[in-house]
Amino acid sequence: MGEVQSFYQSVRYRVRKAGEILGIDKVLLSKIETPVRVGELTIPVELGDRVLVNLTGYVVHHSEHKKPMRGGIRLHKGVTLDVVKGLASDMTWKLAAADIPHGGAKTGVVVDWEDDWYKSLSPKEKNVVEENLIRRLAGEMHRAGLIGTGVYSCAPDVGFKQKYADIFFDEYDMRLNPTSRENKAIITSKSVVNGGIDGRVEATGYGVVMMIKAALEDRRIPTIQRRTLDGLTLAIQGFGNVGSWVADMADREGARIIAVGDERGTILNEKGIDIPLLRKHVAETGTVVGFPGAKFYGDPQAVLGVPCDILVPAALENQITLENYHMIRAKAIFEGANGPITPEADERLIKEGIYISPDIITNIGGAFVSYLEIDKAINNTRFGGSYTAEGLTAHVLREHRKRILQHPRVQEMSRQRGYDVERFINELAIISEVMDKVIDERTVIMTALERKMREVHYQITDYMYQKKLPDLRTAAHVCALEKVAKCYETRGIT
Ligand code: NAD
Repeated sequence: MGEVQSFYQSVRYRVRKAGEILGIDKVLLSKIETPVRVGELTIPVELGDRVLVNLTGYVVHHSEHKKPMRGGIRLHKGVTLDVVKGLASDMTWKLAAADIPHGGAKTGVVVDWEDDWYKSLSPKEKNVVEENLIRRLAGEMHRAGLIGTGVYSCAPDVGFKQKYADIFFDEYDMRLNPTSRENKAIITSKSVVNGGIDGRVEATGYGVVMMIKAALEDRRIPTIQRRTLDGLTLAIQGFGNVGSWVADMADREGARIIAVGDERGTILNEKGIDIPLLRKHVAETGTVVGFPGAKFYGDPQAVLGVPCDILVPAALENQITLENYHMIRAKAIFEGANGPITPEADERLIKEGIYISPDIITNIGGAFVSYLEIDKAINNTRFGGSYTAEGLTAHVLREHRKRILQHPRVQEMSRQRGYDVERFINELAIISEVMDKVIDERTVIMTALERKMREVHYQITDYMYQKKLPDLRTAAHVCALEKVAKCYETRGIT
């Protein structure tokens, strides 16, 4: 097989392969794999009364079998319609694989922050311009009917800072759609004060590490004997949202992060990189370059060839290809980024015995917590805190003790089994009260995330064995496509 030409083609190749395995009718498959809608936008970026530049944006709605559709917004110089189509399609498969009830979508804006129109601005002007860009983007998407809490709910992706989520929400809530009470669901990853969830920002990176932990415990990585991260070596490509939180959690779990790369180069320290210090360095300088005490290589791809237990690509798509796959010295790869390995390189690496946990299950942590954030927004509620089941249980048990004790079934149980039911109710009320105090929103979310990541790991791995599929990626795609196709067929979507 010659190398496929583009990212979207890679995604389509994988979907078609899954379709062939499932024996799905070709016409239905072409309907499922093709985006339902594609929008191209021109976004003027203003400073005062001047338009500095007109940017191009693409919004792709891939599948609306479950609404709203969901997917991040990417602001990057490498954005093309092809990439956005591929990413939108990938969203459909990852949401389906993890049973998250949304269809896939994605937005990309072609923006190069190294261009003169931006570089020549003062820091204050840059802030103003970025805010204007986000507000105008929301406006153009709304005007074209491409967003809405029942249509497409967005999230950050590469280059989209967390503060932009608050601005995007504000624009939608105050100007574009001011009369709805569901507006907080228009974008996720907002600050907690604006209806965000404590833990969403870390969710994708932490989710990757939770999946690594599940695979280690499950002894599914034949090349790694250890059952925990303690003492394992990691190399991470990309130190943005995903990569930096992978590093944070893996470091705290005892792994040694020996190499980190970003778009300006790679740093290496076999003894282990001090992750809290690196996070501080990157927050101050915007790059891993110049981090003290580590060897530096100007090649951003050097990180891929570092001998280590686990490699986590967490930068961009198409990083490991037929040209460079032979560099890989890792025993296992967990894909934090979307589509970091081309199908051809993937096949070669699997043949070499490298365990690959594919993107559409490995990086779903953010999508899962976004789903919870949307749930929170639509229901105008929160997880944990004073309305937990535990808090209410404690209250109900205390307030209604007499009625519970007088209930015939409780009296019968007390008589027949000799239980001191009153004491039991008192103890249960105390335990529930303590749980209510201890369990805040973050604890609920992190517990749910860990459970989801383990569940998906086991579900897809078991599916692979049951259906005798050759690898985890194929299993994830077949499992996801099977679910989506069933929706299309039973609903009669044409
Ligand atoms: P980000 O913008 O926060 O960080 C991207 C990182 O990649 C930066 O460190 C950047 O320097 C580095 N990078 C960019 N180009 C590179 C190159 N050519 N070589 C090496 N490094 C390069 O983005 P992010 O949100 O962390 O997203 C990273 C990947 O994870 C993307 O593929 C994205 O689609 C995927 N993803 C993100 C989320 C999320 O919640 N943010 C969820 C699922 C998947």
